[in-house]
Order: sequence, then structure tokens, then C-alpha cells
Amino acid sequence: MLPAQKDDGKAKQTTVPYQEVSLFLGNTEVVIRIYRKAGTEGVLFIHPHGDESGALEAGLRFVEEHGGTLVTISRVGSQEHKKRKISFEICGKAIEVDPNRIFSEQGIRSQLAPYGDDVADSAFSEVKKFSESLILEISRFALPSTVIALHNDRLGYSQVLGSSGEARISPGEPNTDFFFVTRREDFERLASLGYNAFLQSGSPKDDGSASVLFQKLGVRYINVECGFSKKEKNYQMVLAALGM
Ligand SMILES: [Zn+2]
Repeated sequence: MLPAQKDDGKAKQTTVPYQEVSLFLGNTEVVIRIYRKAGTEGVLFIHPHGDESGALEAGLRFVEEHGGTLVTISRVGSQEHKKRKISFEICGKAIEVDPNRIFSEQGIRSQLAPYGDDVADSAFSEVKKFSESLILEISRFALPSTVIALHNDRLGYSQVLGSSGEARISPGEPNTDFFFVTRREDFERLASLGYNAFLQSGSPKDDGSASVLFQKLGVRYINVECGFSKKEKNYQMVLAALGM
């Protein structure tokens, strides 16, 4: 019997040079890895979820071939980061936060709400500090003109319908493969190429995600969502995002 095809949780080796920066979430060290290669200026790739290795690989392939900057979380505590969420401990209690839901106070509060008031209050300032230092690292090399968020998707696009102002569904395209963008011209362009495309609403609910943050900052933002284990398609979608 052949083994089921799955991601091995590791991105392919790359020759792109990188540097690492240590941040802290409570007492837990979170290491951010920043890959950088000259070539494509003003484009920043963000890869927040450690279990989405195909998305990372597609982004690294782009930076290797065309240049750019890519930020990923490489380690949490002593563990290589291969999970969606980041865990840390506060008041002896284990807390988990989604690193793509902490870019606003409102987002942080809803992440912490399930832990009860006492824990949530003490954890809030720690997560806020971490979020601020993460944003500082992300924008250290100048505010990008375009942010490409790299994700692999299991749930399908129904999860973004609530925050979308407009949607174009392409018949035959899998519901795990889609673009979620903040600019109308990107929405029209990607839809016309035959992809599923969603335009974020002009006044989205602030869930602390990067799409809301960058829309507020006026930075062009394109979220590339592709199903797992579709290496070539994932890379083609990254190219399409940038009009290549
Ligand atoms: Zn993701």
C-alpha cells in the first residue's frame, strides 16, 4: 500500500540567506526567521502558521528565484514551530494564541476570552508586547508596498465569506484554493485569471488578523490560500498574486 500523500512538516532546504530574531511571549522564546534576497523590492511574504509547510515552500521558492523578504516563525520554546498556534504559560496555565489573530487589541482579547478573566487580564499585556515587537520586526526593513500572506487551507473559503465585501467563485476550482485581497484591482485581476477571489469588506470586523491591520495601514494585501500538498499550484498562485 502506498503511504498517503502528506506534508512532512518541513520546508525544502533553501539557499536564501536569513537572520533570526528572538522575541518573547511571556517567558517563552519565539524565534522569527527573516529570509531576504535582493530582486523583488517592496514585497513582504508573511507565513504565520507553522503547520502550513507547503505555503512556506512556495514563498521560499519565489524568494530564491525572484528575491523578496519572507518572515516566518521558526521556533517556539525548544520546539521547531510546526503548529498553527503558539503556546506559552502564564499563572501556571497553558495558553494558546493564533499568531494571525493578535494584530489588534480586540483580536487579542477574543483569543484570550476562553481562559477566563484572571488569566486573560495577565496574558493580555504579554500578548500585546509580543504583537508589537512582531509588527516592528515585520516592518523593520521599511513598510512594504505589498504583503503576501502564505497559507494552506483545509476548511475552504466559506470561512472568509463573513468578512468579504464581494466574492467571485470559479466553477471547477477547489474551495481550498482562493485569494483574499484588500484591493479591487487585485480582486478583478485574479478572478479574471479563473481563480476563486474574495475582496475584503471596506469595514471588516476587527478579528486581529493581518488583513485588517494592513488594510488600515493602506498597504496592498493578498492572502494566498491553497490546499495542502499542491506544490506546483501553490507556487503558480504566488506568481499570479504578483502578476507574474
Ligand atoms: Zn494559515
